[in-house]
Amino acid sequence: MENQVLYDLIIIGAGPAGITAGIYAIRKKLRTLIISKDFQGQVKWAVSVENYPGLPDIKGMDLAKKFEDHLKQYGAEIVNDEVIKIGKENQIFELITKNGDRFISLSVIIASGADPRPLEVPGEKEFIAKGVTYCTTCDAPFFKDRPVAVIGGGNSGVKAAIELTHYASKVYLLEFQEKLAADELEQERARHNEKIEIINSAALKSIEGKNKVERITYEDVKSKQKKNLKVEGVFVSVGTQPATSFIKEMVDFNEKDEIVIDPKTGQTKTAGLFSAGDVTDVKYNQIVIAAGEGAKAALSVYDYLRNLKK
Ligand SMILES: Cc1cc2nc3c(=O)[nH]c(=O)nc-3n(C[C@H](O)[C@H](O)[C@H](O)COP(=O)(O)OP(=O)(O)OC[C@H]3O[C@@H](n4cnc5c(N)ncnc54)[C@H](O)[C@@H]3O)c2cc1C
Repeated sequence: MENQVLYDLIIIGAGPAGITAGIYAIRKKLRTLIISKDFQGQVKWAVSVENYPGLPDIKGMDLAKKFEDHLKQYGAEIVNDEVIKIGKENQIFELITKNGDRFISLSVIIASGADPRPLEVPGEKEFIAKGVTYCTTCDAPFFKDRPVAVIGGGNSGVKAAIELTHYASKVYLLEFQEKLAADELEQERARHNEKIEIINSAALKSIEGKNKVERITYEDVKSKQKKNLKVEGVFVSVGTQPATSFIKEMVDFNEKDEIVIDPKTGQTKTAGLFSAGDVTDVKYNQIVIAAGEGAKAALSVYDYLRNLKK
């Protein structure tokens, strides 16, 4: 079905960046539409968030819900769909969604964030939802009294391992490098937890089983020796990759496939097309930063539209 409303702004994505942009835009009385696949973004994968000001210890899911409620309080127009294409003609952007709908707008903020980076080892794809998972918060309770492995020793991986000890019988934490990359505080918590066994210099080679995960094979990077671990769950936590499949020509990308923006405004190389949060080349990927970048992009859109309409 066609939608002929000409929006001032369409925001793609309802993670911290998109939601904050939405709050700012609506408060500026811009006719704003938010199109998003979901309402939590990556925040849903955060077991606990301890660095968002004013909320010293909150579950990722609960913080995401607070963001969503705040946005909805302003009566935001929201479409639950996935943008698959953007074009621009005569100052007007056209967005096409997976459901086949078409939306038009004078400006766009891309706040599509990032998706989990896959391991790309044999068995990963086959065993998704059969033991392989990317979301500890969602899936940890399914592994009660079972041995599991977490792949990746950054902050997210270490937090995931700690969370899993509330359910699993044993948690192997595999890190490719010689030592964990997580903050020292998180590392200490993991080291002092009897259920966690940290295995450094471990390169995961395969995930195996019959109908579900039964074991993993990793290689000791130093000795080149291959070893097996009997696990029923594999929690993947090896970083993210920017979600940009719907946009090719209208923006520049850096070497990490992130959208290049003007750091002062969030503007991309196309007039009226802005971007914010983890999908951009902003240096640090954090909730508070994505939210700030979303606010900046929305204020820049406001200035852009004022000039456009003059
Ligand atoms: C496991 C984990 C733990 C973390 N813990 C913390 C923490 O403790 N503290 C912290 O500050 N940060 C943490 N982070 C980082 C933080 O979650 C991100 O920096 C932040 O969520 C980025 O916000 P964003 O809005 O840019 O993108 P995202 O949160 O990725 O949101 C993007 C949104 O866009 C939607 N979307 C994507 N593509 C499309 C499309 N084509 N059409 C429509 N919608 C689309 C997605 O569905 C999603 O809703 C963590 C990240 C992970 C993965």
